[in-house]
Amino acid sequence: MSETVAEFDLIARIRARAGRRDDVVLGIGDDAALLQVPPGRQLVVTMDTLNAGVHFPPQTAAADIGWKALAANLSDLAAMAAQPAWCTLSLSLPGADAAWVDGFLDGFCALARQHAVALVGGDTTRGPLSVAVTAHGLVAPGMALRRDGAQAGDDVWVSGTLGDAAGALAQWRARQGIDAALRERLDRPTPRIAVGLALSGIAHACIDVSDGLLADLGHVCAASGVGAVVDVDGLPASAALSAAFAAGARRELQAGGGDDYELCFTAPSSARMRLAALAQGSATPITRIGAIVAGDAVQAVRADGRAWRARRGGYRHFDGDRPA
Ligand code: ADP
Ligand code: MG
Repeated sequence: MSETVAEFDLIARIRARAGRRDDVVLGIGDDAALLQVPPGRQLVVTMDTLNAGVHFPPQTAAADIGWKALAANLSDLAAMAAQPAWCTLSLSLPGADAAWVDGFLDGFCALARQHAVALVGGDTTRGPLSVAVTAHGLVAPGMALRRDGAQAGDDVWVSGTLGDAAGALAQWRARQGIDAALRERLDRPTPRIAVGLALSGIAHACIDVSDGLLADLGHVCAASGVGAVVDVDGLPASAALSAAFAAGARRELQAGGGDDYELCFTAPSSARMRLAALAQGSATPITRIGAIVAGDAVQAVRADGRAWRARRGGYRHFDGDRPA
């Protein structure tokens, strides 16, 4: 049975697990938080909302929602090459369900601890289940990675593997059993903070893959005024994805599936040695998947050079067509 408690009790539970940092002058409990930005740093701010039935299936475990809500934001900081520092949390809850909030905090705080992020404030309201997080990171002036720096001649790279989260959703929509490794990638994505930090000063442009590789690379191209050619047969796949999907379906998931939270970045070919060294010293592989070219289109090509087109449009948010 879930225990219904007063709002202030929920906030007390959250406050007890908010995490500490020396640069939090005043955290949860006052009208606003006071944060000490180190001298000579720029503040990097991002926000992402997860709505039940839109961004996650309604029966998703509270702990997974907590993890993912923070992960989506930390992934944005990773894509900017920012060091995470603080976050705030707006919770809209259908009821003051203490067990749900405790579960949510299990996932949220586990990821926050990994990156030494302190929860410094937020808002708690009654309404349909929705979670909005802002994350704050720090970066040296001029060192942030942006979408508008790609140049013709750059290589295009991606971290990790693509398509796992979309593969889990596809299995779930098809009412199949969901592969555990794919499900883990959907429910507990890994923000690529270390990769993002290491890319500062090397990459020309960067974005995190939340809407689908080709769509997100399209955002980089639009911001930079360039085009791209991507080798769809060379996209990195996990062993779990390769085992669960035939090549054609797998390509669709890798090129168009969202929610991977990998980093897609461009870098000059002169950086290949540095990037190889970086990948060798890291647990996260990086793969060269294409090139930036003059123009404004993202072209996907097969290994034999033929053009490749997605069967349907890009990634749609979870659209509620779940099994009863
Ligand atoms: P106010 O009415 O001044 O906005 P609230 O009662 O909403 O104050 O919040 C009291 C304190 O608790 C504030 O410091 C606020 O930032 C914090 N808080 C409220 N909800 C949350 C939440 N979901 N997560 C983190 N901090 C929260
Ligand atoms: Mg107040």
